[in-house]
Amino acid sequence: MTSIQEYTAEDAGVTRKDISPSALKVIDKLQKAGFDSYLVGGCVRDLMLGKIPKDFDIATAAHPEEIDSLFNNCRLIGRRFRLAHIRYGREIIEVATFRGHHGNTSKTSEKGMILRDNVYGTVEEDAIRRDLTINALYYDPNKKRDNRTGVIRDFMNSTEDIQKRKIRLIGDPEVRYKEDPVRMLRAVRFAAKLDFTIEKHSKDAIYRLANHLREIPAARLFEEIQKLFVCGHAFNAFQQLDDYQLLDILFPLSVQYYRSDKINRSLIDQALINTDQRLSDGKYVTPSFLLAVLLWAPMQEKKALYIQHKEHPDYQAMNQAAQYVILKQTKASSIPKRYSTPMREMWDLQARLAKRHGNRADALHQHPRFRASYDFLLLREQSGEIEPGLGEWWTKYQEVDTETKQSMVRDLKQKPKKRKRSPRKPRSDSSQNNESNSLNNEANSTSSDDQPLEP
Ligand code: ATP
Ligand code: MG
Repeated sequence: MTSIQEYTAEDAGVTRKDISPSALKVIDKLQKAGFDSYLVGGCVRDLMLGKIPKDFDIATAAHPEEIDSLFNNCRLIGRRFRLAHIRYGREIIEVATFRGHHGNTSKTSEKGMILRDNVYGTVEEDAIRRDLTINALYYDPNKKRDNRTGVIRDFMNSTEDIQKRKIRLIGDPEVRYKEDPVRMLRAVRFAAKLDFTIEKHSKDAIYRLANHLREIPAARLFEEIQKLFVCGHAFNAFQQLDDYQLLDILFPLSVQYYRSDKINRSLIDQALINTDQRLSDGKYVTPSFLLAVLLWAPMQEKKALYIQHKEHPDYQAMNQAAQYVILKQTKASSIPKRYSTPMREMWDLQARLAKRHGNRADALHQHPRFRASYDFLLLREQSGEIEPGLGEWWTKYQEVDTETKQSMVRDLKQKPKKRKRSPRKPRSDSSQNNESNSLNNEANSTSSDDQPLEP
């Protein structure tokens, strides 16, 4: 049973000035139209923890169509979970109607997964169907109590869990994870991000139910992976995903290397640590970088196998291996093309960064993927995957003037003479996949990937 606690926002150290003016406008308008409305979820949790909320979500008694008719800057989205998005410039305020008990009207799968959740209810019912207690606080910025404006309502003992820094599923964790297995990833993400611990029952159920994540559509899993990458604590989150064996489902090709290959583990860990650092410095991060790092070892191994078994000509092996691992990974989580293309370019550039003669260094430096590929190269050197040296050369190249750049290129060891190639025999295997070879556009007539890196 739920116990209701109410206290002033001031008692929780939360004031109106911490709230987005747009969110306040939305609440005012909904309340004036007679609809009970609150700030809810992450923003209340973060304000209570003294953090700046990422966004401001609102829960209201108004139904989506009613919200839509009140605001002309409104758009209704979502099928599984219908929502209103109200736009103010670049800011979007997400407004959800209170959800009620699922009863017979919500759509669930055989395994108990909620396929659609559009049954509306009261604020108390809405609190019960949220995922974690810490995400179920309701803040009415206009309500008065003890002569003060702003009241927080707590139906789930959320305040105590925030104080004790506990992640706790609302209700029976087993049932709630089965309803929506993504909640397992959310529990881990918030534990990592807030440095909270997952309470025992909520934790134990993850080990038992991790497999249910396989039922989640690949596109939704990718969204969650992205959130994990950019939560600012990706390294911590990753260690926990590994402990809970959730990595096996998210990155089935990478997990064996991460667990058994020290060098690969160090490469991935350092990439995650750097991502967290970049975010804390306010720098840009892209999922394609971490995905390229995560899938590097399986791609390299596949490439080596192709070469060993002569399944593809050497110069095409990387391209084909890249295609293979990306396709396999997309069975677990989708990878939009806008990310898979840069990943392949980063991989391709790993070999090309060694080839700096003539105008090549300059052309590489201008390549849109140069920076990411250079960062990747440094990580590979740091982890001990390859000998250090080339990274330092490129570090210097970027710092010096044009004349010095040219002399650096001249000072490189003499380019090895190309061996004359005998004309290749036509392949008997007509089923060979002739994928466009745009990534190998470096007219590379040798299998350059395997050359020792200079200098
Ligand atoms: P942040 O935005 O800081 O990552 P958040 O808690 O606001 O954290 P959102 O993904 O924005 O997270 O979701 C808003 C709220 O919706 C959550 O706080 C939670 O109450 C509820 N919620 C989100 N996803 C689920 C889910 N899968 N099951 C139940 N409730 C959910
Ligand atoms: Mg949010």
